[in-house]
Formats: sequence, structure tokens, C-alpha cells
Amino acid sequence: MAYRIPLSFPVFEGNEKCYTEQAIASGNLATFGAFINKFQNKLSKKIKTHQAVALNSGTSALHLAMVLVGVEPGDEVICQSFTFCASANPIVYLGAQPIFVDSEIDTWNISPEILEDAILSRIALGKKPKAIVLVHLFGMPAKINELMEVANKYNIPVIEDAAEAVGSKYEGKSCGTFADIGIFSFNGNKIITSGGGGAIIANNTELIQKAAHLSTQAREDLPYYQHLEIGYNYKMNNLTAAVGLAQLEKLESFVKRRREINTRYRNLLADFPGISFHQERSESESNYWLTTILIDEEKTGFSNDRIRSVLLNNGIETRFLWKPLHLQPVFKRAPFYGGRVAEKLFSNGLCLPSSSSLTMDQQQEIVGIIEKEIQKSYF
Ligand SMILES: *Cc1c(COP(=O)(O)O)cnc(C)c1O
Repeated sequence: MAYRIPLSFPVFEGNEKCYTEQAIASGNLATFGAFINKFQNKLSKKIKTHQAVALNSGTSALHLAMVLVGVEPGDEVICQSFTFCASANPIVYLGAQPIFVDSEIDTWNISPEILEDAILSRIALGKKPKAIVLVHLFGMPAKINELMEVANKYNIPVIEDAAEAVGSKYEGKSCGTFADIGIFSFNGNKIITSGGGGAIIANNTELIQKAAHLSTQAREDLPYYQHLEIGYNYKMNNLTAAVGLAQLEKLESFVKRRREINTRYRNLLADFPGISFHQERSESESNYWLTTILIDEEKTGFSNDRIRSVLLNNGIETRFLWKPLHLQPVFKRAPFYGGRVAEKLFSNGLCLPSSSSLTMDQQQEIVGIIEKEIQKSYF
């Protein structure tokens, strides 16, 4: 269904057309070509300190990251429960077992305390987790210092799922650069998009070379095709990289726009009891990929689903927050540590339209519809 005001719509107002025409004129649309290197170099420059390998999706980036840290059949991998399924699916691709951990209420991301409980419990049961997947959900940085301290204490590698946090910062540094390996996604509705795409980032050259090698079918550098290990067809292609490069050039302006949209929602909805926002901590700067609100039904008299359906009737797309993975039927047998933090966020939350191109008038309209609902239930 086409929405009049979609949740997160891409903006192509830069060099997308020019670069794709150049890529087509070059005749090279496959997994080598000038735009792939340009895209990787630009991305490395933006996030500083790290090198990047451009891939065909965020999911394949997570899969490769897990291969690189050595996840094998029968291993256990700890994963934030409150996230999109792609954070955990590659654990299963590798024949390993996901162990889900609840969020904390400040950032909505994996709780450092519960993470440590989970590690100790798994060790007591006889198996030390092979890796930890943490996520910066909706662009909001997790409590990275506390989480890395726990991971380092037990010497467990961390994979930083920054799929939603391209352009987010923690203590002034880019999200994705704190753990052993970080990943990004450039899928259709992320803050920048290459159509589909992803990247692995790391500051370890050997790891980056290994990722590049595995992503192109582990083909040896010989005049004939020779393979010493099983690889993947995961590299980004040149046409996609052309779009990605043009989008990357606009990243700062998109982050600025989405932050402005977030501020305006806050200002417009600030006075209504029962509606609250995801709060940034002093050390972090979210890209506010999506603005999210929590609706306390006891105070507002209406649920998140009520607002969703009223806005939908007006052609406006909103979305529930991610359903926690430990509550997903497909993961029902996976162990879970924690309480009901992620579950409550899921049942009260709503993502509001947050496109970089959202106009003031559109935002006023969205808020106006929510206000009408509020008035109905207050008076
Ligand atoms: C989008 C997303 C991914 C997967 O990225 P794709 O490019 O869609 O494969 C992984 N993790 C999170 C948290 C995401 O939002």
C-alpha cells in the first residue's frame, strides 16, 4: 500500500542520477568497479579510524561478522532481544544458538547488568558465549562503555549492529567503531540507502581483508578459480555503490533534518501527559533515524494501536516498535535473560513518520490528528 506520508522515505536530491549514469556508461555493474572503492573510502573517512568493506546487505554483514569471530555450530551467541530479526538470524544460519538479553530503560538497548548475569549463567551451564551482538536501536547509542567493560572482562568479542545508527555518535565517535566489528545497513528505508546494501567496518586490516575475501566467494588471487575455503557472494555491486556514494555525501544533512524533526515532535507533543520520548544521554547523539513515542494508556486513554489506526485512516504510516525476539514464535525455544522492559516498550511504543523530506505542514498534520485523539479522551 502506498502511504501519503510514509514512515521513512528516501531522498535522492544529490548525485544519485549522475553517478548511476557513470556506472552504467562504464559497463561495469558487478562487484568490481570504481564506485565500490569510492564508497568504501568515503565511508571510512566519515567514520574515521576504521576501514570498510561494502556488502549487499546488513544481514550479510552480520553473517560475515559472525564467521569472522569464529561462530560455529553448537556455539552460543548473546543477542539483544529488542531488535529486528536480522540481528539474530545469522546466529541460526551458522548452526549456533541465540541467547536473548533484555534492554535497559534509558537507551532501550541491551542491559549491561543483565548481559553480565547471562554470561555468568551460560558459563555456569558449561558454555562461554562465543560473541555478543549489541544494537543501537532506532539510531540511539547503547551504553557502550558499560557493555564493552563487561565483554572485555570475560574476553568475548562484540559485534556492533549499527544498521540503524549510521551517523549516530557516542562520546563524539561514530557508532559501529567501538566493538571488534561493526556493521551498517543501507536498505530502502534506513537513513541513507543504496537500494539494498551493508558494510562491515573494523580497525583491523587483516580482518577487513578477510571480510573482503569471504564476500567474493573466497577466490584466490590466481589466473584460474581456486578456493581454499567456503566463501559467500556478499559484495556490494557497482551500481548500488554509485547510489550509496551519492547518499553518503548527504549523510550529515539527513542526520540534521531527522534531529530537527525529532525536536519538533517533542515541542509539539511535550505538554500531553502520557506521551514520552526516547531520551538521549549526555554522551550520545542519535541520528534519530525514527522518532519514537511511548503512550501510557492509563494517562492518555488510548493505545498505540489506536493512534496507528487513526493515522492510517489518513494515509499516514506509523509502525510498532520491534517485537522482542524472545517473544517471536520462531525463537520461542531460545533462552532469555531479563524482565519485561523490551516487552513493555513494544506494547506502548510507536514510530512516527521521520523521513528527511518530511515537511513542517505534514508534521503539523500528524500532530494535529494525535491531538484530536487526546482531546477526545480527555474531555
Ligand atoms: C535493517 C537492519 C538490519 C539488516 O539490514 P539489511 O540491510 O536489511 O539486511 C540488521 N539489524 C537491524 C537492527 C536493522 O534495523
